[in-house]
Amino acid sequence: MKPKCEHTRTQVYSYLDGEMRYFGRIRIWWHLRRCPPCGDGYVFERRFLDKVRHDCTENVPQELLDRLSTFLSQQALDPPGAAPAAEE
Ligand SMILES: [Zn+2]
Repeated sequence: MKPKCEHTRTQVYSYLDGEMRYFGRIRIWWHLRRCPPCGDGYVFERRFLDKVRHDCTENVPQELLDRLSTFLSQQALDPPGAAPAAEE
C-alpha cells in the first residue's frame, strides 16, 4: 500500500464527517477517484453507514446521519469544481 493510500484511509472518517478542511477534502476526494483500492474502501464506508442507519437508527444521532447523507450526496453529484492541480 502506498503511503498516500494509508493517509487517505486514516482520513476517511474525517472526510465522511464533513469536518475536514475544504482543501483536505479535495485531496481525499481526488485520491479516491484516482486510486481504485481506496475508492473501493470509500464505497465500503458508504455501505457501512447505510447498514448502520438501517439496523441501529436509535443508536446514531439523526443529525449526524442527515449530515452524512447530505454530504455524501453533494460529493457524488456536485464534486469540488476546481481541479486540484498539485495532486497526483
Ligand atoms: Zn490510494
